[in-house]
Amino acid sequence: MAKVQFIKSADVKPWLAELAKEHRVFAPSYDGEALLFRPFDPEQEIVLDRAATMPPKKTIFPQSEKLVDFTYSKDPENLSRIKIDAKANLPEGSTVVFGSRPCDARGFTMFDRVYLSDKNPDIYYQARRKNTLFITLACRTIENTCFCNWVDSDPCDPTGSDVLAIPVNDGYLLESVSEQGEKLLNSKLLADGSSRRAEAEKICQEIAGSINNTKDLTLAPEKLLAVFDNMEFWEEVSAKCLSCGACTYLCPSCYCFNITDETTGMKGKRLRSWDNCMSAQFTMEASGHNPRPTKAHRLKNRVGHKFSYYPTIHGGVISCCGCGRCIKSCPAGIDIREIVLKAIDFVPAAVEE
Ligand code: SF4
Ligand code: SF4
Repeated sequence: MAKVQFIKSADVKPWLAELAKEHRVFAPSYDGEALLFRPFDPEQEIVLDRAATMPPKKTIFPQSEKLVDFTYSKDPENLSRIKIDAKANLPEGSTVVFGSRPCDARGFTMFDRVYLSDKNPDIYYQARRKNTLFITLACRTIENTCFCNWVDSDPCDPTGSDVLAIPVNDGYLLESVSEQGEKLLNSKLLADGSSRRAEAEKICQEIAGSINNTKDLTLAPEKLLAVFDNMEFWEEVSAKCLSCGACTYLCPSCYCFNITDETTGMKGKRLRSWDNCMSAQFTMEASGHNPRPTKAHRLKNRVGHKFSYYPTIHGGVISCCGCGRCIKSCPAGIDIREIVLKAIDFVPAAVEE
């Protein structure tokens, strides 16, 4: 049974200060005009009335991280033999992310199917995932770019979170989702929230009712495959794309990376950094051949991966949580929803006899 607590708005910062004694705490605050998840600073205003510009992706999957330190040494008896000593740089400590949105927390579940697979778990991701807790804030306002309801979610969805915070009168109802989340709810600053439950449920129903009409995406995987070879379709929908990559960097469910080595003399470090499938370099091979040579090929891959290939491999789950950031931030006004719906509705021209 979930633990249900209530916190007054005025006590949020003191509670985060308490949590910060044991964990690294991130909360949304402004950095210039961008609302980002930044290390908690009691002097800084925490902004909870809108979703952050960037999801808290880097709290588990840093934009750039050192995986390994390595040293080369030559065998003095045989200089053609080189020994490599490598030491993994596994992340330590625990993190609490406060104020993520349901779509942000759900985004990590798309990562989990890939990075935590039984066959080949990613030890860096695994270490951070296990030690990062999400206190997710249910959305009170819906933007016209939001479409979490199209992808089996809603503005109070607890999937992927440890605690769900629902804004109620004067404060927040805090509901534990995981065992680790329950442990976060033991502060003296919190009071029993059972009497506020009905109010929170009503608020969630009202918000769910205010989001745009849902669309049935059941046919998306097969319909996107049906237009796979139709380059006219992809050239048309990608015509305005600038290949800037904003859509991938801001996406809570995009997880591609590149690996680079930086060496000085006989020492070096191996780094993993976010990569961007909308860039022409992404699939460029050493020979100069590029299997995705145009932006039409690249957008086809991005949309196809999320709405067709991933669901085909992972039990029908669409690898998009409907956060709308790619739509809001695209300088060319490309709307991923329109592309998917266009593919679903696409009727091939009849072949004349
Ligand atoms: S944000 Fe828009 S313009 Fe930039 S790569 Fe993505 S689709 Fe293209
Ligand atoms: S594809 Fe766009 S709407 Fe979907 S999760 Fe990524 S940024 Fe959000």
